[in-house]
Amino acid sequence: MIKDFTRRLFLRGGKPLPIRPPWALPENDFIARCSKCGACTSHCPQGILEPDHAGYPQVNFALGECTFCGVCLRQCPAGALVALPQAPPWRRKAIIAETCLNVLGTQCRTCGEQCEQRAIIFRPSPGGRTLPQLVTAACNGCGACFAVCPVQAIRILA
Ligand code: SF4
Ligand code: SF4
Ligand code: SF4
Repeated sequence: MIKDFTRRLFLRGGKPLPIRPPWALPENDFIARCSKCGACTSHCPQGILEPDHAGYPQVNFALGECTFCGVCLRQCPAGALVALPQAPPWRRKAIIAETCLNVLGTQCRTCGEQCEQRAIIFRPSPGGRTLPQLVTAACNGCGACFAVCPVQAIRILA
């Protein structure tokens, strides 16, 4: 857990970058290639893609998780989403903030129960609390833990 993930959110230029679809090129290259055709957005079976303020696709984890089905990758006609050999779809990971209910003594296991990767474990800590801990290597950044957290304590960051 980290105390201030907003610091990481705002590291680049004062505001967070939109979460592009998996396999997206680095931001500047992505913007240069993407034609805003909406093919990825309209075909995503999970319905988690939406246009950002400029019309480029972004992931909204409040709408659901990414299954890495690859539909967006296959639908992109512009080469803005590119699968590289041996590379994961993205390098995003969950970050759990200290606003987690368990920090204040209210038991919650919701995010861990949603994680198919078993990337969130609960460890006893001083004071008798049991706190969530991310197994970073196991997390694939799918976002299944994001929307279920009752206090919005989770972010999915690159
Ligand atoms: S990989 Fe599948 S679920 Fe994930 S954003 Fe692309 S189309 Fe949607
Ligand atoms: S982002 Fe996905 S894999 Fe990572 S902790 Fe959340 S549910 Fe598990
Ligand atoms: S769902 Fe939210 S409040 Fe519950 S354990 Fe996970 S981070 Fe904490």
